[in-house]
This record gives sequence, structure tokens and C-alpha cells, in this order.
Amino acid sequence: MDISFKGVEHRYMIGTPFEKTALHPVDLFIPSGSFTAIIGHTGSGKSTLIQHINGLLNPSAGEIVIGKFKLNADKKNKQPLRDLRQQVGLVFQYPEHQLFEETVAKDICFGPMNYGVTEEAAMRRVRELLPLVGLNEDVLESSPFQLSGGQMRRVAIAGVLAIRPSVLVLDEPTAGLDPEGRVQMLELFNNYHKEYGTTTILVTHSMEDAAKYADHLVVMNNGKIEMSGTRDQVFKESERLSEIGLDLPDTVRLLAQVKKKFNLTEVPLLFEKEE
Ligand code: ADP
Repeated sequence: MDISFKGVEHRYMIGTPFEKTALHPVDLFIPSGSFTAIIGHTGSGKSTLIQHINGLLNPSAGEIVIGKFKLNADKKNKQPLRDLRQQVGLVFQYPEHQLFEETVAKDICFGPMNYGVTEEAAMRRVRELLPLVGLNEDVLESSPFQLSGGQMRRVAIAGVLAIRPSVLVLDEPTAGLDPEGRVQMLELFNNYHKEYGTTTILVTHSMEDAAKYADHLVVMNNGKIEMSGTRDQVFKESERLSEIGLDLPDTVRLLAQVKKKFNLTEVPLLFEKEE
């Protein structure tokens, strides 16, 4: 599903002395099927932006269009949020904090069964997802709270994927993981994107991760969209990125230097996304 933001503004704590404009009018298009990274420093408005995509936050002004759903400041115009949330899966930071069922199987089945999928069909989804999220079937009857932190996070992610969302929004899903765990987690989403073609939106402050996994980038700064477009279009504006303290990843910089030094005009400026 394509996603469009049209003049979307968000203010927290309106009418209080603490009122804060976290999104200045934002216009943005995220194409269906893309793997889009939203990149920016802490406090730049990334979480605020993405929470509008499944209606967790309501815009103070403007409109968000997600496929057939429209969200705007006038609540009367809204499609039921429940339908939207079936289409837009949101993985929060530390999603394992939301586990609550007695067993792993029940936890993963909760979402689809809540949307009317039978237990049998939900279990089929669970078995299909387990290898994708890197879990063995022998955890299914365990309590999620007996698992390691990394396994718990995989269970929580499987619970979101089991709803089969058309859009998957990931808010810093690697927070708190060690370097190996980070790579495994990002590979999981990369593989899922390749297999199902789900529109994937990854919030990150890592330029390396954005370079490696995303085909589209949205750069946020002080509550505004500084740049957006294909990864290569955005990376070509390296000076503008540096001005806001986002340096190109070493891999990309090195390739550009080698290309310039040896005048390798046939080599693309940026590496191609690995298939
Ligand atoms: P990011 O995800 O890029 O770190 P956020 O969207 O969390 O940025 O925050 C953007 C701005 O909005 C920050 O200045 C932050 O302090 C403020 N903010 C975020 N959440 C709230 C809230 N619930 N109440 C008031 N201000 C908030």
C-alpha cells in the first residue's frame, strides 16, 4: 500500500505550557513494496511520524492516506482503526515487553485470532513464521518469559507478522541487541521483505543499516523531512547530509573515492542492493 502524508503536523500537549511541535507540516510519499529507512537524530520526529501510520497518534493538521484509509484531524472521517491496524503492523522498541500469554504459540496466535482467524489457521501461520524469525518449534509450548531476551523479541515480532500486515513499521527494532543480534534481526526483516514484498518502514539512526537494507530513505531533522527519495538519490546529497551530522557510511564513501581516483565511470557510485 502506498502511504502519503499531506501537510501533516503534530503537536504534543496542545494548549499547555509544554506544547511542542514535533512535526512541522510534512509532505511525504512512501511507495508500496519499498523498504524505506527513516533516519535522523534522536528527537528529530521519527517515532512521532511513524505512529501516525497506524493511527496511534492523530495529526493536529493535515491528512495521511494509507491505501484506502484516510486519517486526519477530524476524527469523524476516519475508517475504523481496527481495520487499519490489521493492515499496518507496528513493532515498537523492545516489543518483548508486550508479551503476555502463557505460551509462545498462544502469544503469536493472539493477533490473528483477534481478527477472526481460526486457531488451526493461526497455528499454520505460526509454523510458517518460526523459521523466518529464527525460532524452533520446541519453544511453542514454553512460557515466553522462560526464553532469552533475543528469543522473546523474535516471538513478539512473529506475533506482528502473523497478522500478515501489508505495511510493517519497525521502530528501532535492534535497540539493545549486541552487534551479532543486530545483524540477525535486520537480516530477518530483509528476508521477510524479499519473501512477502511487504512495504517495510525501518526507523534507525544508523546510516550503515540504511545503506545496506533500504531502497528508499527519508531523512528527518528538527521535525521536518529534510530529504526523501531513493537511497541513491539521497546519498548523492552527501554535503547536505553532513550539514545535519549524518555522514555517509564508510563503505559508500570508500567506493566513491576509489571511483574518483581510478576514473571508473562504469562503476555505479553506490553499491547495488544485494539480491
Ligand atoms: P525520534 O523518534 O526521532 O527520537 P520523537 O518523535 O520521539 O523523535 O520526538 C520528537 C520530539 O517530540 C522530541 O522533541 C520529543 O521530546 C517530543 N516528544 C515525543 N513524545 C512526546 C510526548 N509524548 N509528549 C511531549 N513531547 C514529546
